Amino acid sequence: MSDYDVVVLGAGPGGYVAAIRASQLGLKTAVIDKEWLGGVCLNIGCIPSKALLKNADLAYTLRNRGKEFGISFDNLELDYSVAVKRSRQVSNRLVKGVTFLMKKNNIDVIMGTGKLTAKNAIEVTDADGKKQTIAAKNIILATGAHSAQIPGMEVDGKKIVSFWEAILQESRPESVIIIGAGAIGAEFSTIWNSYGTKVTLIEMLPRILPLEDEDVSNEMAKAFKKVGIEVLTNHRVLKVEKTDSGVHVTVKGEEGEKGFDAQQALIAVGFKPNSKDIGLEAVGVKVDARGFVEIDERMATNVPGIWAIGDLTGKLLLAHVASAQGIVCAENIAGAATVKLDYRMMPRATYSYPQATSFGLTEAQARAEGYDVKIGRFPFLANGKSLGMGESTGFVKLVTDAKYGEILGGHMIGPEVSELLPELTLAHTMELTVEEIARNVHAHPTISEAIMEAAHDAEGRAIHS
Ligand code: NAD
Repeated sequence: MSDYDVVVLGAGPGGYVAAIRASQLGLKTAVIDKEWLGGVCLNIGCIPSKALLKNADLAYTLRNRGKEFGISFDNLELDYSVAVKRSRQVSNRLVKGVTFLMKKNNIDVIMGTGKLTAKNAIEVTDADGKKQTIAAKNIILATGAHSAQIPGMEVDGKKIVSFWEAILQESRPESVIIIGAGAIGAEFSTIWNSYGTKVTLIEMLPRILPLEDEDVSNEMAKAFKKVGIEVLTNHRVLKVEKTDSGVHVTVKGEEGEKGFDAQQALIAVGFKPNSKDIGLEAVGVKVDARGFVEIDERMATNVPGIWAIGDLTGKLLLAHVASAQGIVCAENIAGAATVKLDYRMMPRATYSYPQATSFGLTEAQARAEGYDVKIGRFPFLANGKSLGMGESTGFVKLVTDAKYGEILGGHMIGPEVSELLPELTLAHTMELTVEEIARNVHAHPTISEAIMEAAHDAEGRAIHS
């Protein structure tokens, strides 16, 4: 038995960040993981997918926009396996970085599967089946989440895949049915379509990216259709059957049932918490009806000394939210100064082409909450930098409260818009008004000028539209 102040179960962007902050605050810390440092995000999620998206952007440009840019060639060859290899290198490099950070911060890394056996003890079983018990005054659960399955349409890793196989497979399907038009569905639609895969994207709700502002969903659907992605909303998947050449997917929409054949089906219908088999019952940690661990604003569970962060808590299943929760959690454990997180105001981003990014209330939500809503809007078509880049799809939309000029939400779709969002979230945190954003002089030409213009527009006086 060894004694730690903090032991973190799960070394994803929630867990490893919590461990670093705990160690910075003078707590003796260890982190346990059964698979890898960096979790799904660094190894098979956020990071490698961004590398694939960069390749996809180049592939799309070379395949479809050569004429526009004056590039021509004979026999263009695109080797998708090289894109995947590059994505693995990027991922490995970042994971090495986390390994270094653990050392630098004197955090013990214990590789193995951990399970709570008491409120201050975790039993860890390593790959050879050897067991040890780690004792800790505080345990932070950060075991993340996994892909939800549709009953009767189980992932086989070949014809029916989840994001896990999709990101690792070195060849792309010639045709694919993507079930679920959330973040994963949208990003893989872009990646594979850019290389020439025939993509059919199926969403059961009335619009793709259904949690985004309606205008963003509509613009994204338009952009997807323009590049040849077949988009079906209001369609429920009834069956995914394996055939000799791939899959046959039966869907039901308003006009009845339809069938689609493709080489693969990608199931991207959301995530479920990794809350089974980690010993929660043994110590009485409360979970909600969906299995997510219940926490308070300090990240404490109902059992003193046991804390939880990240996807496991189901607040917002995003890496940066997990990291922010990890920092708050470690600070609460150490009794250090900290903050409360406002999950409604957390940034969100989908890295398809175009990108979509947002924070706060959609227009519909703001109206439903009774605000006197004023919208500021600016299209990238009227932004010089976007035109120069050849990326003029999309817009900035600010949802503001007419009474005080407060920014209630920001919604953007267009080129690299995820990089623009921090200006808005910082402005919101600092309680700046739209007028103050409009008065903040932005360098010209930048795509960020679209934010300034949208803020002017909310004031009824955009300059360039
Ligand atoms: P998601 O929750 O983002 O989207 C799932 C979509 O599937 C929803 O639009 C839902 O309405 C639809 N759906 C559910 N059941 C369906 C069915 N039977 N038929 C058709 N559509 C159906 O989930 P995801 O895309 O699988 O991603 C999993 C998690 O990972 C999410 O929490 C997501 O936020 C996170 N993630 C985030 C990013 C990012 O931030 N860029 C990228 C990848 C994943």
